[in-house]
Amino acid sequence: MSDLDPPSGPRADRRAELAAGLAEVERRIAEACRAAGRPRAELTLIAVTKTYPASDVRLLAGLGVADVGENRDQEAAAKAAECADLALTWHFIGQVQTNKARSVVAYADLVHGVDRPRLVAALSRAAVAAGREVGCLVQVDLDQRADRPDRGGARPAEVPALAEALAAAPGLRLRGVMAVAPLGEDPAAAFARLADVAQAVQKEHPGADVISAGMSGDLAQAIANGATHLRVGTALLGRRKPFVR
Ligand SMILES: *Cc1c(COP(=O)(O)O)cnc(C)c1O
Repeated sequence: MSDLDPPSGPRADRRAELAAGLAEVERRIAEACRAAGRPRAELTLIAVTKTYPASDVRLLAGLGVADVGENRDQEAAAKAAECADLALTWHFIGQVQTNKARSVVAYADLVHGVDRPRLVAALSRAAVAAGREVGCLVQVDLDQRADRPDRGGARPAEVPALAEALAAAPGLRLRGVMAVAPLGEDPAAAFARLADVAQAVQKEHPGADVISAGMSGDLAQAIANGATHLRVGTALLGRRKPFVR
């Protein structure tokens, strides 16, 4: 049996599940685009495949998904290697430890979580050593609470300097900004602040037009506030098993 044969058995069942998830996500995207008066073509859907096997990545690719997101280096590196024959764009959406920079730049096309100068330096060195140009997004911390948990991200006031550092770093290309909506706040309000931060970055760096925002629960609010990239896991692939370290 070749890869081109239609899958059968459990693989066919999983393919049908993923196709249904994708259809429902596309329906929600279309609805939000209509409401916002935006064309679907402005949006890139990233399938967040963390905790799911490479076989799911393969099935999603067969369903037309071109962008995949992962948040843990070891898992991502293995999956990217298993799927090296597929024409996929790989997004690293987790927090990057500086000692993982070398590994991450080997497979990631776009790193979403750049939030400190030391990481810019580590990614730049690694990208140059690998002979690659890696796209980067400044991760913005939208949480305004004094006692906010540290979920990564630069404060909005720190973003211009980080953007400047990325734009100047050899081997890296500043592509825009990324954020996760803070817990306990209307995501639309948070994404509106992200749009302001993105606009300020774009004013200085016209090519940096990516706004990575919106997940399974808040993709409509992200689309209404200018998102260009959606990171969707649960709604496509199902609820993840709790991650055990
Ligand atoms: C896991 C993850 C997602 C996907 O979240 P879902 O709610 O499953 O869609 C998006 N962004 C980041 C940064 C993630 O870690």
